[in-house]
Amino acid sequence: MNQKSGQRPIDFDPKWDDETETASYFETLKTHQEASQRELISRNKEPEELAYCLADAAHSLALQFFEQVGNDFETSCKSGCSYCCHQPATVFAFEAIRIARELKNSLTSDDLKFLEETMVARVNDFKGSSVGKQINNKAACPLLTNHQCSVYASRPLTCRLAHSFSVKKCRQAFEKDRNLVQIPVALELLSAVSGIIEAVYGGLPGAKLDANLYELSSAVLVALSQPDAASKWASGDRSIFRNCIKDDT
Ligand code: SF4
Repeated sequence: MNQKSGQRPIDFDPKWDDETETASYFETLKTHQEASQRELISRNKEPEELAYCLADAAHSLALQFFEQVGNDFETSCKSGCSYCCHQPATVFAFEAIRIARELKNSLTSDDLKFLEETMVARVNDFKGSSVGKQINNKAACPLLTNHQCSVYASRPLTCRLAHSFSVKKCRQAFEKDRNLVQIPVALELLSAVSGIIEAVYGGLPGAKLDANLYELSSAVLVALSQPDAASKWASGDRSIFRNCIKDDT
């Protein structure tokens, strides 16, 4: 797992002990999360501040593991290539809170209003169908601007899963049926990043926090429009995102 792999085709390194390595990431991430949550809670922060601190802590811990794993690979992904941003995206509640905060701090009120309208249109487009079934919806993510993610540093973990060793295959998948084109990926990277997501998914309920994955636009809209979304999430309220489209894949 620690050897430099360079350009990786789809082959699977038989030396990679998927189960052991992934379980190890789970355990370490959980331990760090629990310690951070205890430390943050013990500081008696105001609820909203606590929400952001927990969101930041959970995100940065997960990122730390992603970097550890992702740095072992050199993918074909480059700035300005955005085929993978033309399909549904999902977020954890804490990521939606984090993204909403960044958007409020960086956009003008007119730009924010335009973004919200775009997100409402996207949610309406998705309604009545699961995120999984929307895989061939080729509309751009509302957060994509000039082929760049406008919240790149805060992009969701599920977006960090996306990688490829062939731009040609990504283009074909975009132009045809995604289900019929296989993108060459590193199974080790997918396993490890999925492990991080699973760790978050499994770790937050222990702290009585909502750990569901939601369609990105529906969750960010809630976080943008409801001033108490962050504090409610931090207090363990599981109803705040209840009307968002859930990722049931
Ligand atoms: S959040 Fe950013 S990385 Fe994820 S799909 Fe949207 S534009 Fe792409």
